[in-house]
Amino acid sequence: MKNPTSHNDVTSCMKTIKLNNGLKIPQLGLGVWQSGNGQEAIDAIHWALAAGYRHIDTASIYKNEEAVGEAIRTADVPREDIWLTTKIWNDDIRAGRTTEALEEALARLGTDYVDLLLLHWPVDGYMAAWMALEQALAAGKVRAIGLSNFMEEHLTDIIEQGEILPAVNQIEFHPYLVQADAISYCDMHNIAITAWSPLMQGNFLKEPLFAEIGAAYGKTPAQVVLRWCLQNDIIIIPKSTNQGRIKENSEIFDFELSEDHMIAIDELEKGEHFGPDPNDFDF
Ligand code: NAD
Repeated sequence: MKNPTSHNDVTSCMKTIKLNNGLKIPQLGLGVWQSGNGQEAIDAIHWALAAGYRHIDTASIYKNEEAVGEAIRTADVPREDIWLTTKIWNDDIRAGRTTEALEEALARLGTDYVDLLLLHWPVDGYMAAWMALEQALAAGKVRAIGLSNFMEEHLTDIIEQGEILPAVNQIEFHPYLVQADAISYCDMHNIAITAWSPLMQGNFLKEPLFAEIGAAYGKTPAQVVLRWCLQNDIIIIPKSTNQGRIKENSEIFDFELSEDHMIAIDELEKGEHFGPDPNDFDF
């Protein structure tokens, strides 16, 4: 996969990917789906920032934007050094209230801008919602706009009818599900890919190959899976609320999988979703 240029910044944990709008997004972020809207999310974010993460991925539907905002406000790291992503939920897209939903999200987060705003799923009304995102960008309420779970037919609408190229498409991606068509379409348009569920929602532990490969590098199965994503130029947002695992998931910039190991992991692909399929969902 060719994709936006990678850069090594000051510390490797802050390695960034240059987006098509020129902004650099940290390639590693912390996902906070299912992290409690209180001390659980706050602790996870503080541990992540201490471990070097500079990117947090939330969504209005995760119902924890208040805790995410509080964690960022009370962190030792300045707001402008943290990449914050949130997403507009499907009901708001359908109801044509993306602009209002963004204002509500900003109020919950207690910030006056987010770094990246995504449409969560390609539900009816996504074209009008995209226009609202373009207006939010012009108004300085977001630094970048993008999509999530958009497959080629929906991406084509956005690219043909919109004025601004989406910076990112966030899709399910891991060794069992590569979604090659969506990825090559995004590559062609220089749209970066963020992997959701990069750790297969924990199911990577059932695959013996990751431990076998990890043994050759002194790395854990989780680190092998995440490293494979990185070497594919994919942005990753693994979720954990466990301090040790949060740190473990960040220690992936000091080794490189061989080509043979990359290929062995590529061969695991079997089109298996652990989350909903963007071509067949009902929410
Ligand atoms: P994930 O693949 O990140 O897996 C998370 C689970 O893996 C954890 O609950 C934990 O049980 C386990 N885990 C994490 N680190 C581990 C380690 N080092 N060792 C052993 N087990 C470990 O799953 P996810 O939460 O579904 O996805 C990550 C993030 O992606 C979410 O938190 C969310 O921010 C985002 N997401 C987005 C969408 C979307 O539609 N855009 C959908 C799902 C998730």
